[in-house]
Amino acid sequence: MHHFQYRDGLLHAEDVPLTRLAEEVGTPLYVYSAATLKRHYLAFDGAFPDLDHLVCYSVKANSNLAVLNLLASLGAGMDIVSGGELHRALSAGADPSRSVFSGVGKQRWEISMALEAGILMFNVESSQELDLLSDTALNLQQQAPVAIRVNPDVDPKTHPYISTGLRKNKFGLPMAAARDEYLRAADLPGLRIRGVSCHIGSQLTQVSPFVDALRRLLDLVDGLRGEGLTIDYLDLGGGLGIVYNQEEPPHPVEYGRVISQEVKDAGLTLILEPGRVIAGNAGILLTRVIYTKRGEVKDFVVVDGAMNDLIRPSLYSAYHEIRPVIETAGASSPKDVVGPICETGDFLAQDRPLTELRPGDLLAVMSAGAYCFVMASNYNSRGRPAEVLVCGDDYHVVRTRERTIDLIRGESVPAEFIARAIS
Ligand SMILES: *Cc1c(COP(=O)(O)O)cnc(C)c1O
Repeated sequence: MHHFQYRDGLLHAEDVPLTRLAEEVGTPLYVYSAATLKRHYLAFDGAFPDLDHLVCYSVKANSNLAVLNLLASLGAGMDIVSGGELHRALSAGADPSRSVFSGVGKQRWEISMALEAGILMFNVESSQELDLLSDTALNLQQQAPVAIRVNPDVDPKTHPYISTGLRKNKFGLPMAAARDEYLRAADLPGLRIRGVSCHIGSQLTQVSPFVDALRRLLDLVDGLRGEGLTIDYLDLGGGLGIVYNQEEPPHPVEYGRVISQEVKDAGLTLILEPGRVIAGNAGILLTRVIYTKRGEVKDFVVVDGAMNDLIRPSLYSAYHEIRPVIETAGASSPKDVVGPICETGDFLAQDRPLTELRPGDLLAVMSAGAYCFVMASNYNSRGRPAEVLVCGDDYHVVRTRERTIDLIRGESVPAEFIARAIS
């Protein structure tokens, strides 16, 4: 359930008509609904009522400071994957002691930053990272809290680019190596073992791969405890899917029930790292039609939003529903909704049945709250869109639109140097 609904034929974000936002803030524009974010967070957190657990929102899904602040204020910890994300989380007022740090390529400066902030746990993904972490912690006269991210080799049955828990994927340590690495880690002076972790993929629409992974982790926990290690946390990662089109993902309550059943007697605090399921359907991209044109085999709708603003259709052939902001009756015919970028791969939808459109019409690209703005780029020297957060009948611009002058910041023309280079 989300709060982007038609009222009298006009699409609203909560109580704000999208036409008003387009006029006052311009397009393309990301629009997030505070009520939807809150609802999704509380539904997810509430799905584990009888279990010691911690929800660490996956910052990479939508890292706008206002979104992070809203979720942190509801009690969310954070799952971060870079020093930049840690800086965002801290700037947004998130509690580092409720936050975990994942990622295959953590560098020393990022590790130091996280140790100084006092994060809950590092999810370590390689043997070399264990050594660097121990060394960095010792330099700061600390012991780093550690889980090893294992690769449980389960098939999440999702898009290959967002499968992460297969043995051919770059993530985590192989299950077979985990025990030995844990024993080695236990002897490294700068480390303190706290838990086990995994993250098997994103946009999962079944519970069974989570259960398979969980059982493998629980076996590992048993083995490690048998070796005398103390394991307090089991981090199951994120990955629960959402409805973009016809998917039928389990409701968080169902997911929570099944997972809780498996872990309830294990004496562990469960950590969850949801991203998409919290933010995905809490945002849209609002875009305006510039031109329409009839090709020889297709009709095109050229809009002011493009692959630099929202790359998922181009990158993973992802489906995003497209709704006209003003509901129209009449016959629909298949159209490609494309952006101004000079790439054939620049489309938001292909062969999509849409009613007749005219220049100036507004379209809402639905389910654009996760993995959309965060992947935006400046390709074709286009400024990234503004972002607004709506609450009831009010809204706030939570990121201003990049101006053309912003696009050349940091660049310089060393005239004499170039003159010499070409002479
Ligand atoms: C991306 C990611 C998540 C969030 O995945 P969702 O599918 O958005 O829930 C959680 N944990 C890790 C380690 C990730 O890389």
